[in-house]
Amino acid sequence: MRKPIIAANWKMHKTPAETEEFLKNFVVLARDEQRVDIVIAPPYISLAAASSAIGQNDSIRLAAQNMHYEQSGAFTGEISPLMLRQMLITYVILGHSERRSLFGEDDALINKKVLAAHQYNLRPILCVGETLDERDAGKIETVLTTQLTGGLKDISPEQMVGTVIAYEPVWAIGTGRTATPEQAQEAHAFIRKTIASLYDADTARKARIQYGGSVKPGNMAELASQPDVDGALVGGASLESGSFWEICRAAAEEAGRKSE
Ligand code: PEP
Repeated sequence: MRKPIIAANWKMHKTPAETEEFLKNFVVLARDEQRVDIVIAPPYISLAAASSAIGQNDSIRLAAQNMHYEQSGAFTGEISPLMLRQMLITYVILGHSERRSLFGEDDALINKKVLAAHQYNLRPILCVGETLDERDAGKIETVLTTQLTGGLKDISPEQMVGTVIAYEPVWAIGTGRTATPEQAQEAHAFIRKTIASLYDADTARKARIQYGGSVKPGNMAELASQPDVDGALVGGASLESGSFWEICRAAAEEAGRKSE
């Protein structure tokens, strides 16, 4: 049984003070939740505030939204895996479509980051997904295969199990247009099949694949009920503590049903 993972990608939102305010409420709501892994990815500058607001609460983990692959050096403006590790960060989001399209990240660069994350015991959340043009041109499987093969190059089976794949169709991110549960399931099943062919059936069975793209409290349960959907990566609807908690709760209840 795979434990679902619900991650909040705050992007360039929330100052340290706003982070504290969010977590003051959210920590109380999520305190006893063990059925899903809850992850929050604030901007770098708010990670320290988030860490102290979470304190000893082990039901919430932190993620960075990006990182460089080197440990240190002349890379102005960058943050290294070692720096994240020392801030008690557990996960790091890599290859988000905004990083790919706005900052020119390609699969080779993303792969260096995925390898570096594992080297420093950070768990990567590797984002993959097609644009609308690619979907319309019938290229979903080609795009996913290329991104997975490139992003996971030289990653061992054990490291693969510790890697979360986020399927984020680009046309569903921040648009209010969610993939239907059937579209999500189809893509997730294809991703699992691809992991099986890159590794083996057991590794594919254990790998967690979360869905991202306009997830809201109202659509989480149906998405989470799909057999290959193991949680969500949430942007806009994660910025308000009540709404993010509703999403976590819906996924947790669905996880309870799936395990019956
Ligand atoms: C995201 O940016 O990862 C995302 C899924 O955003 P939203 O939920 O706002 O579509």
